[in-house]
Amino acid sequence: MITKKINKEERNDFYQSKFDYFRKVSGFCAVLIGLLEISYFITDCQLYGRFAIETLIPRVSIVFPLALFLFLYPRVRDYKWGALLYYMMPHAAMWCTTWAIYHLEIKDFAREGFIIMHFAFLAIGLCAPLKYHLFYHSLLILDIAISNLYNHYEYYSMMIGLAVPLMVGVFLMMYILENSYVDQYRMKKELELSSKSDKLTTVYNRYIMNDIVDEKDHFTFSHTTTVLMLDIDFFKKVNDTYGHEAGDKILRHVASEIKSQIYGSDYVIRWGGEEFVILLVGYDHTRALDLAQRLRTSLSRTDNGVCPITVSIGLHHYDGNETYREAIRKADKALYYAKNHGRDQVVDDKDI
Ligand code: GH3
Ligand code: MG
Ligand code: MG
Repeated sequence: MITKKINKEERNDFYQSKFDYFRKVSGFCAVLIGLLEISYFITDCQLYGRFAIETLIPRVSIVFPLALFLFLYPRVRDYKWGALLYYMMPHAAMWCTTWAIYHLEIKDFAREGFIIMHFAFLAIGLCAPLKYHLFYHSLLILDIAISNLYNHYEYYSMMIGLAVPLMVGVFLMMYILENSYVDQYRMKKELELSSKSDKLTTVYNRYIMNDIVDEKDHFTFSHTTTVLMLDIDFFKKVNDTYGHEAGDKILRHVASEIKSQIYGSDYVIRWGGEEFVILLVGYDHTRALDLAQRLRTSLSRTDNGVCPITVSIGLHHYDGNETYREAIRKADKALYYAKNHGRDQVVDDKDI
């Protein structure tokens, strides 16, 4: 139910981001709910006018779901399971309360306790999607109904009557909060993207590697990957002859030409000054070699608006067992070979 600003593909990412952002606040509140339940033992004693031994076990039994919550809190990182875990706490508190009230002679104060519960749902709802919130919060009515089966509240209809508008109010609050998080999410995404893209050419910079390699520095792509290392020949001379701005124009042209020849699943990364790493994902060896040759010829033939250029390309077919650094080093070695053997060519590291 979030605004149109978030499309379907982004939705999971949005909710995960919201969960990550609020999980500490909601987690803290979930623990507070547990402690609050135990503290109600004091009011039980006040009601009895003595040590209320009857409600001690029901109230303290919240420690079991609380311990489970604390055990799973650092382990559950997915928002769907997270929502289930976090909402478990207010519901567990409701069941402990129902059990405690069963032993109380005066049950009227349950009403106040149940009203407080709505605020618990408000705090937990921060980290959950709105529709999950709606589902888990509406289960509170079921909790009250089950509680009534045992406790036969004198003011049962009033409890429900109070719960419904409070739930609607909390829902509206959650709706506003979720929508306000959309802007924050957008800003975060834009910042992330700009930190990974090169200002001059708008292709990726090398920080993108953090997103596409695992903790062992292996590419995360399930398909075969070919690494191309492309470098413009005698670029220093171009800069010296036509000026730095003309050189920049060529760099932009080269980047956009590469982008136009590869697929959306491939990556173009400005690796250094006039060096580009191109990751071809899912290409077999021959297809990757063909594309590298095509790139080389088209870059020397298309008009970049300054002067004709040539490029040299080193190619390495990633075998899945090496780190990305090793793969790039091998492509770089092939490029070095190309530079030393006349430039304007593609060299496969297998052939040297
Ligand atoms: P080689 O064929 O051996 O690659 O020769 P080269 O002159 O291209 O290589 P070298 O590494 O000596 O020079 C790279 C040049 O790239 C040096 C620098 O002036 C230029 N360069 C690096 N970054 C930029 C940039 O952002 N803009 C412009 N215009 N030039 C850049
Ligand atoms: Mg060069
Ligand atoms: Mg260079």
